[in-house]
Amino acid sequence: MSGRTIKPVHLRYPTMQGIKPHIIAGPCSVESRQQLKSVVTALSSLPQVTFIRCGVWKPRTRPGGFEGLGEQALLWMQELKPLLPSGVGFACEVARPEHVALAIKYGVAGLWIGARTTANPFMMSELTESLRGVNVPIGVKNAPNPDVRLWVGAIERCHQVGLSHITAIHRGFDILNNGGYRNHPLWEVPMELRRLMPEVPIFCDPSHIAGRVDPIHSISQAALDLGFDGLMLEVHPSPSDALTDAIQQITPTQLSALLDSLVPRRTESSVADDSLRLMRQQIDEIDSQILQLLASRVELCKQIAEIKARGNLAVYQPKRWESLLQQRLSNAQELSLNIDFVKEIFDKIHAESVRVQQEIIDK
Ligand code: PEP
Ligand code: MN
Repeated sequence: MSGRTIKPVHLRYPTMQGIKPHIIAGPCSVESRQQLKSVVTALSSLPQVTFIRCGVWKPRTRPGGFEGLGEQALLWMQELKPLLPSGVGFACEVARPEHVALAIKYGVAGLWIGARTTANPFMMSELTESLRGVNVPIGVKNAPNPDVRLWVGAIERCHQVGLSHITAIHRGFDILNNGGYRNHPLWEVPMELRRLMPEVPIFCDPSHIAGRVDPIHSISQAALDLGFDGLMLEVHPSPSDALTDAIQQITPTQLSALLDSLVPRRTESSVADDSLRLMRQQIDEIDSQILQLLASRVELCKQIAEIKARGNLAVYQPKRWESLLQQRLSNAQELSLNIDFVKEIFDKIHAESVRVQQEIIDK
């Protein structure tokens, strides 16, 4: 994943108060007054829900599908607002400056920027310009492609226009081998965002990662295990009748059961955890050994490069690489290590050796 060269950004950021996880839940799209009322009534009894998500303008991949009810949906949201418990508000996606103006006009309490918008710097700068001075929390979904810089850039554009209440929303990535997900979670990307922007709260959107109901529980728990601050879930009173994303929406009853079964995690360990502290010291020691070994390996590669240069040998020796790799993988298997993980590490080590040797040979 890219982002290697970005330095962490430290901001003075309002911290999120209260118990984790915060929950944003609601239908993929508002479809009728009745549907919205039913979802509002059901979700009002769940104290963890802080926002009711309502799709008002739907970005559709192909033309001809349901594109959301626009202003009509906002009108129903305004009418039904008195039914919401105090502290709970509606939230909707905005992609155009006109959306922002309408959402604010109808009293929408939270906005989010969709994945396809985050991916487009022109749209982002136009949209954030229209958000200048808007005083509501704003969620920024990751772009569909796993480039953390697009996510960071979109959040930076929000900061540039003075928006301070920003939350990142992890909705997974569109990659070739999606591992059975609709959008692969690639957890390392939101973890990298956490490293780069530690003050920005991160929510997970298990519905758009899963693309179906079954994996929603395990994705939600995985997000909590990683210290995410909240979850955004698609909830519909009758998912099979939904006009968008029918197979991934859950019912309010399923949401309630999900929230009851999730185990929240502490993100900071207490200093009193002695055994944890000792084990972390050992991990630090092992990591330092790994780095020393890598440095010795690079040193040897440099000496090998000199020999290759003198013998006019190509840097990349496919047969040697293939046999080395097979041997490492079989060692890894004996040590019960994950083969894919070890393969990835050795691919990186080898790529770096080739780069270092090329530098020497090209001198
Ligand atoms: C949505 O939240 O309904 C949506 C369109 O999601 P995304 O922008 O993540 O595709
Ligand atoms: Mn959806």
